[in-house]
Amino acid sequence: MAVHGLGRSLRAYFHYVTAASASPVHVEVPERRVELAFPAVAEVRVSRLLFERTYSCRDYACSRCCSRVSFWNVWRAADYPGGPGRELRVRVNGIEHRFVVEDHVHSPCAHLRSAGCAVYGREPLHCAFPLVKLKRFADRVVVTTERYSRNRYMGCPVEFRTPAPGELDHFLARRFRRWAREADWLGIDRSRLPESLQRYCIMDSAP
Ligand code: SF4
Ligand code: SF4
Repeated sequence: MAVHGLGRSLRAYFHYVTAASASPVHVEVPERRVELAFPAVAEVRVSRLLFERTYSCRDYACSRCCSRVSFWNVWRAADYPGGPGRELRVRVNGIEHRFVVEDHVHSPCAHLRSAGCAVYGREPLHCAFPLVKLKRFADRVVVTTERYSRNRYMGCPVEFRTPAPGELDHFLARRFRRWAREADWLGIDRSRLPESLQRYCIMDSAP
């Protein structure tokens, strides 16, 4: 089982929200003595695979990522759906923000039910992106859809499908609208996101 402590889980969260920032981002969690630095991104490239593949974990009634990977759930406090989380003050470029974090390392995720995620649509950002990847290579980022090694290791059952007309819009809007909102809330630049993805950041999407 993969285990991600609080520091690593925060790093994963900020890995997403800083992925199109033209300026560096500094993150500090004083009570945990955690400091994270994310360099400026020079370019974001979008793989054609992002537009050729879609999937839904719900088609497989699969929640292996919820039960076989242990991490901390990270929410901005205003979006927290309720549960056993606790507040955490995080400074982003010197400005303090309120988060709520839940320990999902020492106990199962509080929102996992036999039917799947009880907070689908309000799950932590990293839960919404299991096979959509924002991969960093130094100051370059590639956005793609792929089953990566952790999922192959876990036996991810997903077989990607070619999206039906309109399906991809929902698939990408659900993720990037949310992603953009989190970046904006934190005052993190996202100007490096290419035009081909910018439109999804403002598109309505059912949860
Ligand atoms: S919040 Fe939902 S998607 Fe995320 S780990 Fe818990 S049950 Fe899974
Ligand atoms: S293993 Fe694959 S299908 Fe299952 S929850 Fe993870 S990404 Fe979704």
